[in-house]
Amino acid sequence: MTGDAVVLERVSRTYPGGVTALRDVSLRIGYGELVAIVGPSGSGKSTMLHLIGTLDRPSTGRVRIDGHDVAALPDRQLSALRARRIGFVFQQFHLAAGTPVLDNVADGLLYAGVPRRERRRRAAATLDRVGLGHRLTHRPHELSGGERQRVAVARAVVGEPAVLLADEPTGNLDSVAGAGVLALLRDLHAAGTTVVVITHDREIAAGLPREVGMRDGRVVADPAAPNGEGAR
Ligand code: ADP
Repeated sequence: MTGDAVVLERVSRTYPGGVTALRDVSLRIGYGELVAIVGPSGSGKSTMLHLIGTLDRPSTGRVRIDGHDVAALPDRQLSALRARRIGFVFQQFHLAAGTPVLDNVADGLLYAGVPRRERRRRAAATLDRVGLGHRLTHRPHELSGGERQRVAVARAVVGEPAVLLADEPTGNLDSVAGAGVLALLRDLHAAGTTVVVITHDREIAAGLPREVGMRDGRVVADPAAPNGEGAR
């Protein structure tokens, strides 16, 4: 694989009303990296998540995801890129209530054009990988918070996305379950998945191989930045 999974070049985002949430941000995330984007509330993390997730476009600057220039893609192709190449995990799990775990995960392949039987086969294999091979027919409400988040991670990675974007993935979990989910993200990283964790929690960020620090809409620390913003 050539290039980087995520490239932001001099990206700014100003919302209608005039708030500039990101200012001249440049960032590269290579395939296979595990990166934390960390900063206090209001520092621009969600805006960054939306841009990397192709849910939003920059006001100025360039965003490339998995080799695609987001500004150059028509809406339909952008949706396809998002559905096939980006996996999302949210603080609130966002699983389909009343739907068995296996189907929740299999639905992660709906847009990939995979036949139903194959979707279910891959979903079962991915659930096995996240340690939930024995919970395929359970409904989300029959699981613990940590198990629900594992299901959400399985759904996000079943299609082997170029980037797994995790937004405060342990925010709703106790510390033991949270540590388990972080260990799972590390395992996925070790197996080659690109993982971006958005968090306000400095302790979580400090435990990951690369920390990109945000403040007031800027990257203020990044060990991988060419001008050494991380060397403070
Ligand atoms: P974080 O996720 O780090 O809390 P955000 O990206 O949500 O930061 O917000 C950065 C800044 O942009 C904040 O000042 C916030 O109020 C503002 N902001 C975020 N979303 C919007 C929006 N849709 N419209 C206007 N301002 C916004």
